[in-house]
Amino acid sequence: MNYFSTRDKSLEFNFKDIFLRGLAPGGGLFLPAEMKKYNQEELNNLSQLNYNELATEIIFNFCSGEIKKEELSSLIQKSYSSFKDKEVVNIKKIGNINLLELYHGPTLAFKDIAMQVIGNMYDHLEVAKDKTVNVVVATSGDTGSAAIAALSNRKNINLFVLHPHNKISNIQRKIMTTIGGPNIYNIAIEGSFDDCQKIVKELFNENSFRSKINMSGVNSINWARIVCQIVYYFYSFFRLKKNNISFSVPTGNFGDIYAGYVAKKMGLPINKLIVATNKNDILQRVINTGEYKPDKVKATITPSMDIQVASNFERLLYYILDESDSKVGSLMNDLSSKSLFNLDKKEIDKIKKDFEAVKVTDEETVSIINKIYKEHQFIIDPHTATGVGAAKSFKNLGEIVVLGTAHPYKFNDTIKKAIGKNLDSPKHLKLNVDKKETFDIIGNSNSEVKNYILGKIQ
Ligand SMILES: *Cc1c(COP(=O)(O)O)cnc(C)c1O
Repeated sequence: MNYFSTRDKSLEFNFKDIFLRGLAPGGGLFLPAEMKKYNQEELNNLSQLNYNELATEIIFNFCSGEIKKEELSSLIQKSYSSFKDKEVVNIKKIGNINLLELYHGPTLAFKDIAMQVIGNMYDHLEVAKDKTVNVVVATSGDTGSAAIAALSNRKNINLFVLHPHNKISNIQRKIMTTIGGPNIYNIAIEGSFDDCQKIVKELFNENSFRSKINMSGVNSINWARIVCQIVYYFYSFFRLKKNNISFSVPTGNFGDIYAGYVAKKMGLPINKLIVATNKNDILQRVINTGEYKPDKVKATITPSMDIQVASNFERLLYYILDESDSKVGSLMNDLSSKSLFNLDKKEIDKIKKDFEAVKVTDEETVSIINKIYKEHQFIIDPHTATGVGAAKSFKNLGEIVVLGTAHPYKFNDTIKKAIGKNLDSPKHLKLNVDKKETFDIIGNSNSEVKNYILGKIQ
């Protein structure tokens, strides 16, 4: 399978290349040259499969020729053996909400679903066979712990995780800074998630540094992550056995919901994809008005969505702009030179065919958690609550599946405030709360991060 860049269609990379690099040269994002489109009969066949079988079928489309199907199948089984549920994910009916629980992996957020597979792919593709790979990742709280759980103690791999200092939940930080082996380095950056992501992207674009440290990335701009997330759209759609299904997705970097868009492109007849945002509502604004203008990041009770530069939106733009790499490049130039870009009416209408977007405030989020607890004795995390809140705005969409993106325990302080109750740690979280946390606090600058990494790997 060949991949090209959203900003340069002439580039040709294979799956292993794009897996290792994450970001395309020149700053664009990778997209596959072909997209499998399932017909009705094929969909019927897929609907009979269990989660691991389905994951094998879907993911194989994107790496065939480089990973054998039997090998992929065992890699996937191994990846999901640590999950609480044999079927990896779980669908529950809570009142009239269809909740898709994606948080039964080792670090209690949906990020585990892709990251566990990615961890095993590093070994399988032998990318670190002869030379140590240094993985550098930015996190708004959950990617970091999922990456640590997936890459800890792997041979010839170091992992550097940049999180925004004091801007993630206590449990998120505690997991990240205590579960890793000696190949894991936690860095608290004095800045926001957007600052962390910007540093990582800029280091990737510095060819000399990237090759010097043999740098790799596992942020949600890595196509392999999107690919793993496509699976649960298919799976939940098949399990509900309804025709008119939409998804409501708590959104930050636009990775998870983009996987739903790809599922639709692959033939899954999804109706709408609903972007749920918090006060950092850049996606809600661009989808409803056409103006993409990053604001300053505001801290909310949904820290994993405290993002103003939704990187994966560029992958949607590519299709909205009639697959024109030069148009994408020119909007991205506008963004870096003028700090904004504008879409016209035709382009907004195209987006609106597949997407809706709703902003949910912290107050609404707390009251949703409270109400669901009172009415159903069920506790959802704040991110998931934004998905519930956004879904409520649509009465005529038919069935809506809300993606449950994190376990409430990860945000126990907020839950305590919302329902007045302390949560117990779920059994499958192997967290030693008394263990000393290890992380270093450093300034928001590329050079400080570079020096830190070089200091550690020498
Ligand atoms: C990462 C994350 C999100 C946002 O997902 P994106 O792919 O960045 O849009 C939402 N909720 C939780 C709990 C997360 O960890």
